[in-house]
Amino acid sequence: MSGFSALDHAMMRRALALAERGLYTTTPNPRVGCVLARDGVIVGEGWHEKPGAPHAEANALASAGPAARGATAYVSLEPCNHHGRTPPCSAALAAAGVARVVSAVRDPNPLARDGSDALAAAGIQAEVGLLQEEARELNIGFLSRMTRARPWVRMKIAATLDGRTALADGRSQWITGAEARKDGHRWRARACAILTGIGTLKADDPQLSVREVETPRQPLRVVVDSRLEIPANARILRGGNVLLFCAVEPKRDVKGAEPIVLPNAAGKVELPAMLAELARRGVNELHVEAGLRLNGSLVREGCVDEFLIYLNPSFLGDAAQGMLDLPPFESLDQRPRLELRSVERIGEDLRILARPV
Ligand SMILES: [Zn+2]
Repeated sequence: MSGFSALDHAMMRRALALAERGLYTTTPNPRVGCVLARDGVIVGEGWHEKPGAPHAEANALASAGPAARGATAYVSLEPCNHHGRTPPCSAALAAAGVARVVSAVRDPNPLARDGSDALAAAGIQAEVGLLQEEARELNIGFLSRMTRARPWVRMKIAATLDGRTALADGRSQWITGAEARKDGHRWRARACAILTGIGTLKADDPQLSVREVETPRQPLRVVVDSRLEIPANARILRGGNVLLFCAVEPKRDVKGAEPIVLPNAAGKVELPAMLAELARRGVNELHVEAGLRLNGSLVREGCVDEFLIYLNPSFLGDAAQGMLDLPPFESLDQRPRLELRSVERIGEDLRILARPV
């Protein structure tokens, strides 16, 4: 898109920064920010804080008051066009006399989309596509759930430089340094759910909660436990809010957890069906922290969209566990390839973000 001015870009950047304030709180809704500007001056702004709270546009209109008349609205996601828990933002913008609406991305939600068309029909100049890439990244999980009916799956792995993630017995805690761990908690906090497997649960007994960053909300915890072996006193069960995906009918109640039976032909959990179920429950971003077996199964079944890998400058040697349990390849060409998105030093460790190509 080339029809946008430098001012348009600056205003949309502001809208995206506002949207980001909802990073930990808007789920299952998207993160949205809105700026109202007239003659290059911001007259109102707002963002969506959490489900049930006003949308970004409504907050921006409220802060602008009568100054919204004739203004341009910059919204990081196309204004909604339906009566949900709040009235449609397209109508609210039109009623306030806004002259032009610029959206970063189209709303893929079939219930809410076509806000730009409604605005255009009301005689308002409606444009889409400014800073589209940035806006997509911010709501990558919401967009995934709306367009693919599955969450955006981000697999976190902490490993040594020789790619080892745990001792031979599965113990894996504290491979990376304090700063990397804190960074990892930020990624947990933005996720709607955190997934692990029964192997990691038995070896480490993790809580899988967000602890090192401030957040008003704890993600849902999800465990893949084919044979329902979770110990009744597992730490993850203490706070409740746990989904247990298994392949057998539960013979006992697991206090603090809801079991979901989804077997595949091999007697394991049907992972793609699990993703569909999580999407149905409103999970936008799924953060995986599991061991080599579940990691391998997820990769083999095409269930991973992104890898978040922390590498500690140390070695554990070949007796220790690797990242992924994959079947042997016959040639190097068969290996799964990734594209690097970013490489950063976090404290003493290296953080790599990469996506399958
Ligand atoms: Zn809205």
